[in-house]
Amino acid sequence: MASIRTRITGSYALALAGTMFVFSVVVGYERNQAARNDLIARATTAAELATRILRQAGVESERITIFNDTLTGRQLNERFRGYLEAVPDYLFVLDSGTVLYSSAAVQRLSRKDLDDLTTAAIELPPRSVATYVTLDSLKDQVLLAGGFEVPRAAGGVRRVVAGVSTRSLGIAQTQVLVLVFLVGPVILLISIATAWTLAGRMLASVERMVNDVEAITDGRSLHKRIPLEDLGDEIGRLGETLNAMIGRLEGSFASLRRFTADASHELKTPLTVLRADIERAMTAPQRSTEQLVALEEALQETTRMAGLVDSLLTLARADEGRFDLHTEPLALDALVRDVGETAQILGEEAGITVTSTVIERVSVLGDAVRLRQLFLNLVTNAIKYTARGGRVELSLGAKDGTAVFTVKDTGVGIAGADLPFIFDRFWRVDRARSRSERAGAGLGLAISQWIAQAHGGFISVSSRLGRGSTFSVTIPAMSASANS
Ligand code: ADP
Repeated sequence: MASIRTRITGSYALALAGTMFVFSVVVGYERNQAARNDLIARATTAAELATRILRQAGVESERITIFNDTLTGRQLNERFRGYLEAVPDYLFVLDSGTVLYSSAAVQRLSRKDLDDLTTAAIELPPRSVATYVTLDSLKDQVLLAGGFEVPRAAGGVRRVVAGVSTRSLGIAQTQVLVLVFLVGPVILLISIATAWTLAGRMLASVERMVNDVEAITDGRSLHKRIPLEDLGDEIGRLGETLNAMIGRLEGSFASLRRFTADASHELKTPLTVLRADIERAMTAPQRSTEQLVALEEALQETTRMAGLVDSLLTLARADEGRFDLHTEPLALDALVRDVGETAQILGEEAGITVTSTVIERVSVLGDAVRLRQLFLNLVTNAIKYTARGGRVELSLGAKDGTAVFTVKDTGVGIAGADLPFIFDRFWRVDRARSRSERAGAGLGLAISQWIAQAHGGFISVSSRLGRGSTFSVTIPAMSASANS
């Protein structure tokens, strides 16, 4: 789909081209008509002029024809012929069917053209508007007009017919064509460029607004608003509406977060009390086996719920931005060795070999408690999702100014289709099974990612189903000078 800018410009160009076409047709027609009227006027004027010349020369009183014994019979006499030479173009003086005089322009025509023009002049009805005669030899058309009647004189002059060349009509048509095909495209191009620029300028504010809205993508940036310049126009109103909507979203997000944080907080105390009570009941003397089993189960569930509530509280606080990291220069290698020892103990219980391969010396600015939680999350996952007899490998390296902690396992792996979701809250590959066998709520990786991001880093995963997974945490390292 083309952009709005292209569509506006395209529609404008089409509308303009259509209008210009209609305009050109109308102008062309009008120009042609005007040129024709002009020619008729010229021919009529010439005929009138000839009539007036004849009258003033005394055509009504004097005998104006002389008998000529050649083909035509009668002719206008010499004196009148001399006067009529002042009239330009084609001119005929007729006496019902007889040509008494024809101008020099007529005389110069070829035989056939001369005959055609003469016949047309003779046949031109009196007071008719005009008629056109084609002159083949000159490739021209002559417009004949006139038909003025002169009161019958002694010589019997009846009518004067004048004709003009229609070449100027062609010139008029050429002018219109030049206008359409030379000036038209230039106007069209300039207009398209102007429309493109104007549309771009108008849509720039929409583009800015899209970028602003894009910047407000997650729940944490909902406090931001779209900057508005002009509130009067449609775009200003759209911005206002969006801002109002973001405001409402911010309100509901805040109350949701507050609810999760408050609920987790409220649940913490009763759970702790419950746990203590169960432990006390278990240690009390004279318990039957069934009671002990029931209490043990209750204790397990309570521990699980306490962990869940703790995770929820962590995330809720992180969302609210109420969670302060206690960062300090931290030797990551020591922390990883420590995590490695814990992992070994966990691995032994699960029948998995845990090894710490390469551990380079690298320091970061970080929160020791949170980073330990992050590393342990990944390690426990690796052990949890690896079958007995498998291997888990920890390593720590320094690369391009970053510290990279990697946990590699030979476990069940994650399908490519599931990979994009593993950091989502409450997301587990196998929801049904993980509740009983591999108890986990699906919050561990969400918390891990938050910790990595809070340290300016990120977690990357590569995994193949049935072959195992590799989780890597990359965090900016402290520079060597700060290190020493
Ligand atoms: P959980 O508490 O269920 O482990 P996490 O957020 O830690 O929740 O992990 C989310 C899901 O990602 C897990 O349910 C599991 O399916 C998958 N996953 C995490 N780590 C691994 C791993 N090392 N190997 C295979 N699957 C894993």
